[in-house]
Amino acid sequence: MLQNANPYMKQANLIGGKWVEADSGAKIDVVNPANGKVLGTIPKCGQAETARAIEAAQKAFESFRKTTALERSKMLRKLHDALLDNQDSLAELLTLEQGKSLAEAKGEIGASAAYVLWFAEEARRTYGDVIPSPWADRRVIVTKEPVGVIAAITPWNFPSSMLARKIGPAIAAGCTSVVKPATQTPYSGLAWGVLAEEAGIPAGVINIVTGAAGEIGDELCTNPLVKKITFTGSTPIGKLLLEKAAGTVKKVSMELGGNAPFLVFDDADIDRAVEGAMTAKYRNSGQTCVCTNRFFVQAGVYDAFVEKLAKASKALKVGPGVDEGVQQGPLIDEKAVEKVEELVADATQNGGKIVAGGKRHALGGSFFEPTVIADATPKMKFMKEEIFGPVAPVFRFETEEEAIALANDTEYGLACYFYTSDLGRAFRVMGELKYGMVGVNEGLITTPEAPFGGVKESGLGREGGHQGIEDYLDTKYVCIGGLGG
Ligand code: NAP
Repeated sequence: MLQNANPYMKQANLIGGKWVEADSGAKIDVVNPANGKVLGTIPKCGQAETARAIEAAQKAFESFRKTTALERSKMLRKLHDALLDNQDSLAELLTLEQGKSLAEAKGEIGASAAYVLWFAEEARRTYGDVIPSPWADRRVIVTKEPVGVIAAITPWNFPSSMLARKIGPAIAAGCTSVVKPATQTPYSGLAWGVLAEEAGIPAGVINIVTGAAGEIGDELCTNPLVKKITFTGSTPIGKLLLEKAAGTVKKVSMELGGNAPFLVFDDADIDRAVEGAMTAKYRNSGQTCVCTNRFFVQAGVYDAFVEKLAKASKALKVGPGVDEGVQQGPLIDEKAVEKVEELVADATQNGGKIVAGGKRHALGGSFFEPTVIADATPKMKFMKEEIFGPVAPVFRFETEEEAIALANDTEYGLACYFYTSDLGRAFRVMGELKYGMVGVNEGLITTPEAPFGGVKESGLGREGGHQGIEDYLDTKYVCIGGLGG
């Protein structure tokens, strides 16, 4: 067990500025997915502790909402510096609980810092409007105000940066938060509490509870003091939260599942497409919402693309994320490996040809070989289901229309990618793809400056960009009358 050797590993919850245990004293073990060993424990909190965290957030909101935008911007800058000053410790903790390589974990902490800096800047630009009045004796103005207490629920695949996109705009807007990180990767979430203390963010502005997801989620969704729910996770849980939040008409932002297509046209630069494919497929061992789920490759370059992708996939170094040079860590748990195995078996039964990997890795545990499956067809399960693992099914297509139809044939609409050197095609295809984010000749497009989010069942709202703070603000229209004139 890693007994607090890492200064950011807190095994307690943060409520109203105090680190606390669950009322019952119950705990949950947290396991390192690379070796199955217990890293430590976290409190198993439920409804009562969540209600207290909400009350603490509400109490803190009364004064926090009166801070100036400049004061909040400075707090966020300190938070940004604390993240970067401690990037190595935070990345180590992330790798230990999540499994991704240290290089990727450092990248994630860097991304968290970049989001926080972005929102430090956005805090000072929540402009309202002065509208030309239709009345000679009245003035019409619009102001932006913080919505109040917000609740944030996050997944295990990006346990630091998914919170950066929520805590950042919340503080920038003047909101206070109750945060529930994923049970499998809670320490990177709890670390935000330590970082907030270091940055001088007042007690109660960030509260963090871990434990029984259903109980905590129900309280967050039904307590009238919570004015907004921001959730990143699976579409089924997102739908559940939407229903529950309806009872008190909360604002909602939902970053849900994806089924990203990656199109390669005959006129594409194939080497560039393979390079993009490697990032878009294998980042975080294929466990990201924007990871490519389906490759569609035009007949003229199909064989060349498959051969190069298979070669590059076989060359990936798989191992524990903490080991030097590792490019792909384990999957999060045994269940994830079983899901990937099931999808690979379904593909081979339906005529798919394994050209790289295809099975559990010799390292054992939850390691899986980077896998490429040629001759994929729409009958296979990964046409509809999120793989969330290092498996690349490659479909063949003949025409642009066919590729677009295949790419759009899903209830998801988060990220998509396509490669072409034809400018006309780039604009045509970009316009036809029903997705919230499109990478043209790029396989990695996330950045704090741009709005991240999906259409269809991939979600509601956007994180990052100038849009990222909007959902944390209420619009107030004020009409000032009796001015004469
Ligand atoms: P998940 O099962 O939906 O869990 C996400 C979070 O919801 C966890 O904190 C989980 O808590 C919590 N939760 C589970 N049941 C709940 C309930 N009844 N009420 C309230 N909260 C509940 O998703 P996941 O498996 O962790 O993450 C993978 C999914 O996230 C994928 O579908 C992926 O595409 C999506 N994702 C989307 C984005 C995006 O920006 N669009 C980004 C990353 C991931 P416990 O951990 O305690 O169960």
